[in-house]
Amino acid sequence: MDKAALEERLAELPLYSYGFFDPRELEFTDRVRWVCEHECPMYGTTWACPPAVGAVAECKKKCLSYPECLMIASVTEVSDISNIDETLATRPAHEKLTNRVRDEMRQLGVKPFILSTEACTICSRCAYLDGLPCRMPGAMHPCVESQGINVIPLLEKFGLEFQYGENVVTWVSLLFFA
Ligand code: SF4
Repeated sequence: MDKAALEERLAELPLYSYGFFDPRELEFTDRVRWVCEHECPMYGTTWACPPAVGAVAECKKKCLSYPECLMIASVTEVSDISNIDETLATRPAHEKLTNRVRDEMRQLGVKPFILSTEACTICSRCAYLDGLPCRMPGAMHPCVESQGINVIPLLEKFGLEFQYGENVVTWVSLLFFA
């Protein structure tokens, strides 16, 4: 892929930060999976979350099958970050941005494997709950953490903070490509 051409296009988007890196730098750990299982209410509710995404070892294998990855981050200020509804309301804009970057990459001839934020909300009720296959496997993006990825070292690598201030939401997506 012509990275310079992609960077020209990325410069036109409201991204806070982006960067290319080798997926082998990612830290995969069952500790993150444990947090999904014990602390996230979305666990076991969508095809974008564990356990539907497979074991951490399988997720790692898939991510590492790509030689390169693009990290994109956006930040949004909210009036009260402890207000979950207000915080989650900032997510669709980041998902839209992720899909815009996906489209730009596709135009440049690559089809990225995408990890994004939280659980999939494309359908009002995920088919997973009814034991049915995902209705839009080409459109849904598993959550970054669902793969067992520890996002903190990644943010540090790019000089990003998990939280910039009391009321700043940081969203991150990863686009793996060959
Ligand atoms: S596209 Fe629909 S069926 Fe597939 S993961 Fe998302 S919500 Fe579930």
